Amino acid sequence: MCGIVGYVGPRVATPLLIDGLKRLEYRGYDSAGVAVMNGKGVDTRRAPGKIVKLEAMLNAEPLVGTLGIAHTRWATHGAPTELNAHPHTSTDKSIAVVHNGIIENATALKARLEASGYVFTSETDTEVLAHLIQEMYTGKLEDAVIRALEHVEGTYGIAVICSKEPDKIVAARKGSPLLIGLGENEYFVASDASAILSYTREVVYLDDGDLAVLDRNGYKILDMSATQLDKAVSRIDWDLGQIERGGYAHFMLKEIFEQPTTIENTMRGRLLPEDGTSKLGGLNLTDEELLFFDNIVITACGTSWHSALIGEHMFEELARIPVEVEYASEFRYRNPIVDERTLCIVMSQSGETADTLAAMREAKRRGARTLGIVNQVGSTIAREADGGIYIHAGPEIGVASTKAFTSQVVALALLTLKVGRLRDLSIMNGRRIVEALQALPGQIQSILDRADEIEQLAEEFKRAQNFLYLGRGYNFPAALEGALKLKEISYIHAEGYPAAEMKHGPIALIDEMMPVVCIAPHDSVFDKIVSNVQEVKARKGKVIAITSQAEPSLVGKIDYEFRIPQTIEMLSPILASVPLQLLAYYIAVKRGSNVDQPRNLAKSVTVE
Ligand code: GLU
Repeated sequence: MCGIVGYVGPRVATPLLIDGLKRLEYRGYDSAGVAVMNGKGVDTRRAPGKIVKLEAMLNAEPLVGTLGIAHTRWATHGAPTELNAHPHTSTDKSIAVVHNGIIENATALKARLEASGYVFTSETDTEVLAHLIQEMYTGKLEDAVIRALEHVEGTYGIAVICSKEPDKIVAARKGSPLLIGLGENEYFVASDASAILSYTREVVYLDDGDLAVLDRNGYKILDMSATQLDKAVSRIDWDLGQIERGGYAHFMLKEIFEQPTTIENTMRGRLLPEDGTSKLGGLNLTDEELLFFDNIVITACGTSWHSALIGEHMFEELARIPVEVEYASEFRYRNPIVDERTLCIVMSQSGETADTLAAMREAKRRGARTLGIVNQVGSTIAREADGGIYIHAGPEIGVASTKAFTSQVVALALLTLKVGRLRDLSIMNGRRIVEALQALPGQIQSILDRADEIEQLAEEFKRAQNFLYLGRGYNFPAALEGALKLKEISYIHAEGYPAAEMKHGPIALIDEMMPVVCIAPHDSVFDKIVSNVQEVKARKGKVIAITSQAEPSLVGKIDYEFRIPQTIEMLSPILASVPLQLLAYYIAVKRGSNVDQPRNLAKSVTVE
């Protein structure tokens, strides 16, 4: 998920590696490290926090050598500490590894390796790779890496060095990007072209299952049976800014388009399709303890608060447990009724949101058990909560949250499955939910493939001064979230309403100038929302319907339609949110606002 740079050539490696890491800083990271072949063996320096800290360490104790690997880490397993920072070394210190991604079977591999005498020094999943490669090593690093990876489940982009072959870097990829850079008598490996662009524009992109061997004389690409592959060399014409955004115009758009993958990552290794349930390693709650709670309180701010509202519906409908959703800032200043029979779920992308953190501390003081649903591993909420679920959406740079929102909802669905199956939910219904979750990445992709339809819609409405978003049931929070996205980045006033509430006030605002986005997938409240659409139309509002299939009852009542795939009711807000994110995005771009850094907003709200 974060950054890798490697270098072999005639120059001193460390300054090139540090420069490469700095060019990857934009991606977000929490710690950094470098390993260099220093003539005697592998030498490493690692530091939590910013790269300048690593640099200070290197100034005090320089690393000298002409071959090395470096990493910026965005923790998934274990807090961002020096010991958990990459590179990780093998027990005999001969091997060093940097890794992006998640090794899913790390726990089992670690147990086996420890039983054979390998000594672990970090909490990361990555460290197993170093010991495993040592175990497999018989004289040729690429063979050891291939054999080690045969035992690995999960995703990786890795770069590996070995003191017994001090002129070689081996890199491999599965599910995490990696490329080779070709310079004059020097070779690079990087997770992202921006890291090496100031040195070369000639690159070879690795595909999943590829392995690269770089040394002072050249490079070769192998497959996993060590057969050499012939791969094309590409020339990079993009500038740095474009590369950082993966070719997208803004981080927000890139993050919207990442959602098929980020949702997959949230679910990875957590679904138990046979049993129609989920397994969530970090809850720190036994099944008995999960059954003990009388109620759930979810506390959050902003977009997280919207995902919490969707979670409320899920828990109440499928796990039959009463849920209260509270703005964190309100929760902490009243006298909330929580005690030891309350499960308090705390949601924050950054894990640092000041109000949410304070609310969690208040709930703890009153005896509640706390669970964090957080993106940033090792953040304060993640550390202080009794347990939690990491959403694994990767760094979110755009200030307006998109991929973190959909991953939060998926995390809540996983928890609902778990609690539901312990309580009221039948195995058949559990399996139905698992299947629907598994279909989501493909369904989101099919929406993204039609982004141009939304762009046209944005052209139509870019001059609007107000917007109304209506939804019912599970999609009322999606309406709130759609309106929030629009407000945040396009500065158009927008309101989300439960569709039927509209007639108790906001209907007074409707005229031919008012666009009304109606979220109307085919669900149990579809007919009801059709009536609300009619009410809007009767007042000449412009209706944009987000619906899931051709529906005669909408014909003649709506002005524009965008179709989303059919899913089960509880997951429909995930699909409905994607076109709403795109609508907000395209309108903002067309109005010329700074999409990634909207005025007055901060990504992580660490003040009260
Ligand atoms: N899973 C690894 C860790 O937590 C790698 C994280 C990354 O991709 O930066 O150390």
